[in-house]
Amino acid sequence: MSAGLWVGISAGLTVVVVFILLRLKAERTREALDQQIALLEEALANERDRFDAVMEGMEAGVIVLDEAGRIVLLNGAASSFTQPQSGEGSPIHEALPASGLDRFLSVLKDEQSATSQLEMVGPPARTLLARAAKQRSSGGVVLVLHDVTELQRLDQVRQTFVANVSHELRTPLSVIRANTEALLGGALEDAKASREFLGATQRHAERLSLLISDLLDLSRIEAGQLDLQVCTFPLQPVVQRVLEAAGPLAEGRGIELHCRVPHLTDVRADVSALEQVVLNLVENAVKYGREEGAVWVSAEPVDGGVRILVKDDGPGIDACHHDRLFERFYRVDVGRSREVGGTGLGLAIVKHLVTGMGGHIGIRPREPEGTVFWVQLPE
Ligand code: ADP
Repeated sequence: MSAGLWVGISAGLTVVVVFILLRLKAERTREALDQQIALLEEALANERDRFDAVMEGMEAGVIVLDEAGRIVLLNGAASSFTQPQSGEGSPIHEALPASGLDRFLSVLKDEQSATSQLEMVGPPARTLLARAAKQRSSGGVVLVLHDVTELQRLDQVRQTFVANVSHELRTPLSVIRANTEALLGGALEDAKASREFLGATQRHAERLSLLISDLLDLSRIEAGQLDLQVCTFPLQPVVQRVLEAAGPLAEGRGIELHCRVPHLTDVRADVSALEQVVLNLVENAVKYGREEGAVWVSAEPVDGGVRILVKDDGPGIDACHHDRLFERFYRVDVGRSREVGGTGLGLAIVKHLVTGMGGHIGIRPREPEGTVFWVQLPE
């Protein structure tokens, strides 16, 4: 074999070997790349799952907007605030019809982030606490929304309650103060006037003490500090005890009390809480019922329990008051309530006690005359 041919063959072989080696290397690199891509894809999918879970698990609504104010992304909580047909691609002012939204978002022209309260027109009308932050890279906005409607309602309830308590305490206190001032200012020398001033002072002191005791009861019940021992027992002896306790009050107004509870009626309740409930309803029936009238306590079986009825033949309560009767300090006739020493808290306490025993309380639509309150307890 000539040297030239030999050189030619070995050069050819070298080229083939180099080519094979390069292919092998390229294949290995591609495999490694494929592996890396697969790993990246898996990591990305995990990341997306985690992101979706966080977004959907959030109680706050999250909406991401593009530069033009269109929705790019929103989580489940946010879609409960937006209009039903809206979604990704909808302009935010159409999806979230809240007064003050445009003004709020326009703040982001100058600021990096902003917080504001938005009033949703509804229904249902809602108050949202919104925080918006500008995205530096895309120029879009991330909106985080919290529904604070219930918090605001509770705050309103608390404020009204504090105002009511202050008002209720102020009246008897100012009478007591004025009377003692009058006595010290000279009325003490006049026996008749002294008696009148002292009588009024005593009445208002009693009112104060009743009010404070009802307030303490209510706050104990609301704080869940009442330890109710629910058990099954016969109802009739409880009602008899209540009617005995209310006897003197009823006698004072010439009202007859009747127990119409069958012997064998059992109830499931806490004995002393139930006694307090029935006593309160009977005392109300006596206080607001007709003079020389009558009050009946009866019981009837109902689906899954027993219904206790307290009925009087007084003027009754107009249906327009029924929804609010169990609110604290709600009175139908404020003058009459004060006259009979009412605090306006009795029915609120009763409702809490009944609910605490797993029961329900209500008032029947106006009978031809009188009022019928019912308490339903589980069997
Ligand atoms: P109060 O301490 O004023 O009696 P309640 O919470 O017990 O407060 O009752 C709320 C209001 O409901 C009373 O002020 C009264 O106007 C009305 N009411 C309650 N029971 C009767 C009844 N049997 N007949 C007429 N009005 C009633």
